[in-house]
Amino acid sequence: MDEYILRAKAITKNFAGVQALRGVSLDIGKGEIHCLAGENGSGKSTLIKIISGVEEMNSGELEIKGKSYTKITPIESIRNGIQVIYQDLSVFPNLTVKENLAYNTIVADRKKIINWKEIESLAKEALGRINVNIDLNAIVGDLSIADKQLIAISRALLNNAELIIMDEPTTALTRREINNLFKIIKQLQERGISILFVSHKLDEVFEISDRFTIFRNGENIKSGATSELDDKKFTYYMTGREFEEKRFSYTRPDDTPLLSVKDLTLNHGFSDVSFDLYKGEILGITGLLGSGRAELALALSGYYKPDSGTFRLKGEEKRFSSITDAIASNIGYVPEDRLTEGLFMPKAIGRNIILPKIQKFASRFGFLNKQAIQDEIDSWVSRLAIKTPDAANPVRTLSGGNQQRVVLAKWLAINPEVLILNGPTVGVDIGSKYDIHEVIKELSSKGIGVIVISDDLPEILSVCSRVLIMKAGRVTSEYETADMQVHELTVEMTEDIE
Ligand code: ADP
Ligand code: MG
Repeated sequence: MDEYILRAKAITKNFAGVQALRGVSLDIGKGEIHCLAGENGSGKSTLIKIISGVEEMNSGELEIKGKSYTKITPIESIRNGIQVIYQDLSVFPNLTVKENLAYNTIVADRKKIINWKEIESLAKEALGRINVNIDLNAIVGDLSIADKQLIAISRALLNNAELIIMDEPTTALTRREINNLFKIIKQLQERGISILFVSHKLDEVFEISDRFTIFRNGENIKSGATSELDDKKFTYYMTGREFEEKRFSYTRPDDTPLLSVKDLTLNHGFSDVSFDLYKGEILGITGLLGSGRAELALALSGYYKPDSGTFRLKGEEKRFSSITDAIASNIGYVPEDRLTEGLFMPKAIGRNIILPKIQKFASRFGFLNKQAIQDEIDSWVSRLAIKTPDAANPVRTLSGGNQQRVVLAKWLAINPEVLILNGPTVGVDIGSKYDIHEVIKELSSKGIGVIVISDDLPEILSVCSRVLIMKAGRVTSEYETADMQVHELTVEMTEDIE
């Protein structure tokens, strides 16, 4: 590389005991598209915050256009031409497009009198630079995420960006929007602008980048030319493990559905969802953010009351008005955000496991059988291999993966016939993820019907035998996963509705 716009050298960052970065380095050449990849929690966003001056590094050095910094303020970072487009896009939803575009200029210049003519022509020019046509007077809050992103990019250009950093920009985009974004990124590159594109998706890294850097657990694992990367290496660098992908294989025991959902509709959530779930089956439901998958999960588990349609368990129609109702019918629900929804963090691990069925341990007079409770807790801790010296310790002392096992134990303890898992491995490290997948397959072998709701497509493919794809509140297609590849499912999930 002849010339670098930015070199990060041996950067460390500690957040009250969490070592987020352990001496990472990253070089971005002028006019280069560089992908920063890594599993959730590997430190990608933390590095971005250090580069943009939002967080201070503990040690290390940033070299920007040849100048060295051990400390940098947000203003200095911006003056050096660094612009970050965060996941939340940081646009002002109540302001118009032109107000959003002009905001920094107005604030930076401390203008008292605003010349709207001037702003309008500036804004027009900015949008024109990336060839997009958005009404300057539209309220930004009314625009699609993709359009908000384009406005954030235009704004970055107005601020004389030389390096644009995008933190996981494709999370909520359809395929067509992703294609458009990629086209714009290439145009920016042609103007000599450097791009740092953060992603954990292999296909995106291949499609867009010249070079890549992969972080794992706050460490720099590998940097190189994307042309030298392949599927297998990517997974290995990301996880540190070589996975023998063992797909779940399933044969229907008989033709009687365990669960049968017909034309289920939740106004403003999803419409006319129909499917059957059989004993021992693991059915995946996937879709982008906003596809209705989360609402469906909550309606199936009794949290939302559907507006129409039917829900039959072993042929019997059920109407739940709460999660407790569903539990009474042996339907367990493991929520996505285990920290806020699933567990009582300050309470003991054992207590969390036993809570939904505590009544079963009470005598006629309300006395609890302590020994029976302890035995039950011990058996779950050992069956799910929850790593703790003592089940009396609070749940918050456990790692993410072990907390997720506690959630599973808690629901297994009620002997469910149907288990609904919403994002069962969100935020857990890859090793625990693999173990949780094994647990899910084991549950199915006991005849439990499992529904896995997830946008983690490799997860869907290795755990589920069948998958439903949701778009805009409807199930748009259904596939047997046996011969499917991740990129095929990605295309299916992100393709626009015709
Ligand atoms: P990524 O963007 O790769 O998913 P992050 O940089 O967000 O990862 O996080 C890296 C690690 O630092 C994680 O373990 C995360 O929990 C932790 N972390 C990030 N920000 C903070 C913070 N403000 N306080 C405490 N821990 C944090
Ligand atoms: Mg992040």
